[in-house]
Amino acid sequence: MPSPVRTLFVTTALPYANAPFHIGHIMEYVQADIWVRFQRMRGNAVHFVCADDTHGAPIMLQAEKEGISPEELIARVGASHRDDWKRYLISFDTVHSTHSPENTELAQSIYRALAARGLVTTRSIEQFYDPVKGMFLPDRYIKGTCPKCGAKDQYGDACEVCGSTYAPTDLVEPYSTITGARPELRASEHLFFRLSAPEVVSFLKTWTAAPAPGETLQPEVYNKVQEWLGDDGRKLADWDISRDAPYFGIEIPDQPPGSARKYFYVWLDAPIGYLAALKKHFDSGAARAQGEPRSFDEFVADPKVEQFHFIGKDIVYFHTLFWPAMLHFAGRKTPTNVFVHGFITASGEKMSKSRGTGVSPQRYLDLGLDPEWLRYYIAAKLNSHVEDIDFGPDDFVARVNSDLIGKYVNIASRAAPFITRHFGGALATPAESENDRANRLTTAQMDAEAARAHYEARDYGKVLRDAMRIADRINEAFDAAQPWLLAKDPAARDRLQTVCSQALQGFQSLSVMLAPVLPQVASRVARQLFGLGRDFTWKDAWAEPAKIAGFKHLMARVDPKQVEALLGIEADPGNGGRSSAARAAAGATAGASASAGAGAGAAKAAPPIAIDDFAKVELRIARIVAAEAVDGSDKLVKLTLDIGEANPRTVFAGIKGAYAPDALVGRLTPMVANLAPRKMRFGVSEGMVLAASGDGPGVYLLAPDSGAIPGMRVK
Ligand SMILES: [Zn+2]
Repeated sequence: MPSPVRTLFVTTALPYANAPFHIGHIMEYVQADIWVRFQRMRGNAVHFVCADDTHGAPIMLQAEKEGISPEELIARVGASHRDDWKRYLISFDTVHSTHSPENTELAQSIYRALAARGLVTTRSIEQFYDPVKGMFLPDRYIKGTCPKCGAKDQYGDACEVCGSTYAPTDLVEPYSTITGARPELRASEHLFFRLSAPEVVSFLKTWTAAPAPGETLQPEVYNKVQEWLGDDGRKLADWDISRDAPYFGIEIPDQPPGSARKYFYVWLDAPIGYLAALKKHFDSGAARAQGEPRSFDEFVADPKVEQFHFIGKDIVYFHTLFWPAMLHFAGRKTPTNVFVHGFITASGEKMSKSRGTGVSPQRYLDLGLDPEWLRYYIAAKLNSHVEDIDFGPDDFVARVNSDLIGKYVNIASRAAPFITRHFGGALATPAESENDRANRLTTAQMDAEAARAHYEARDYGKVLRDAMRIADRINEAFDAAQPWLLAKDPAARDRLQTVCSQALQGFQSLSVMLAPVLPQVASRVARQLFGLGRDFTWKDAWAEPAKIAGFKHLMARVDPKQVEALLGIEADPGNGGRSSAARAAAGATAGASASAGAGAGAAKAAPPIAIDDFAKVELRIARIVAAEAVDGSDKLVKLTLDIGEANPRTVFAGIKGAYAPDALVGRLTPMVANLAPRKMRFGVSEGMVLAASGDGPGVYLLAPDSGAIPGMRVK
């Protein structure tokens, strides 16, 4: 194996292990994966790792709510993440978890190094405490009345009605969203990382100006960071890195004897998870199998190893201030750069507002849409800036059908049959002068060089625009030569072979350029069409293939109906019950929860009923013991529910767009147990689960507080 030109350590942000991926996650994985696959094709050594981000109050509380341990929750969600990475062809070399021995060891060792340099300080802070739950409340679990405009049920940091920001302690009539209790102010000792220390500020000014030789932050990221740093760095506040028990996290070592247990705030140990995943990658032998002979410690200490993090614009603060400062003052190498992207929105959501669920990446695949279409579409929209991109259904169909299939795939499907039929698969250009041939291959090399520069800069949109321009050029030359006429003229045989071979060489060039975006298609082109017996490397872009082994189907067109189904726009005879059931459920929620009050999404009030009417409805707690997508339905999930009876109940619920079936197994949820059985197209439904929904997209299954068990009556 020749020694690599560059050695790269690349990560995406770590996904939080409380829910299946949304489309924004997939965009980031695709962005990073394209870059990594491109680097590998160039002969560079890449170690591409990820992990689930597993700690913190939201995971602890969600697990409690579902009646399972946090470990069970993160294992379940982690399995859904791994499944989707695979299905979207994301080529991580190792995936791991922040809830791991590697992360505990690294987090504690980095903390100890910072403490030894005097950069950790203790301060007593006053915080809201839920006396019923027995825990300090993160801001997002406190609501109350806005001190400025009097709007009820506003979060602890900002009012969604008037837009003012404030401290949770400013709220009028605050309450805990966990128990409804009125929180008390209590003092607690917290540990702070001294981000405002002069040496830290000075380091951050240097690092953000030039993270590594020849590297700069993206201009919009740099400007944002300078705002945070201020002229003299005096704007930087010290960072609260500790949380009190109960907390699901890594314990802070070396606390004074007799003091209460403290845990690292999840945002301290999450980025350290990059290193933990890399350590796992080395300790498991995976790095060695990729030709890297060194140990983890040797590798991370090597200044020549380049370290890149792909992240979203919402977590720039953590990655350009906390993370490099933590690493530097713990005596470790700092990142070479961070690559920041914007968000993805779906304009189709507007159309489907009343019933749709947006672009769910799980639903996308479940409907049979090709993951490489989405990779191509996302790549076509991405550039090196921090810009939001939009998923437009019509645009998606046009780019896949007109560009990808109509221009690129079309070249092979038109040229290959002539070569197979008339020349036994042999490629040659006998009617082309040596000079023209040399010029053609030089042009191919120059096109590949332009694509190389664009990939390197993450300007994927430019790569694809150029590729489609080249495809146009090839198709036009092919049409102008009229091979269908040449094929009828025995005297034009050399000309026919030349024209088709030129087109297929161009097709190989394009396939190399598109391979980071379309890895499966490119692999089939290399192995099946050209019979190379391996995948493409970058140099194949200006090589001449010698033969074709026969043309097989490469990629289908997208049916616009599939995209409509994805966005929930289609007429849906299979499930008339969903939206009325969800409405009814929303009404029931508002009626049953006196303390939480009616949310913003509450439906119009129904006429009053007597308590006897309500008592007719037998609500019971059910455990979801199995959940599977219903074949042939876009909306339904078949649930098997244990409500403490001898036989479990079967219920069809219209929640497929909102939940991956695997993610539901184990959850507790209330159900209507005395609903008359209803025969549906897919089987008999023996009840109904309750979910909240409003006018916007989104369906939210209800869940009882911890302590409830299957079969309990809800009154
Ligand atoms: Zn307000």
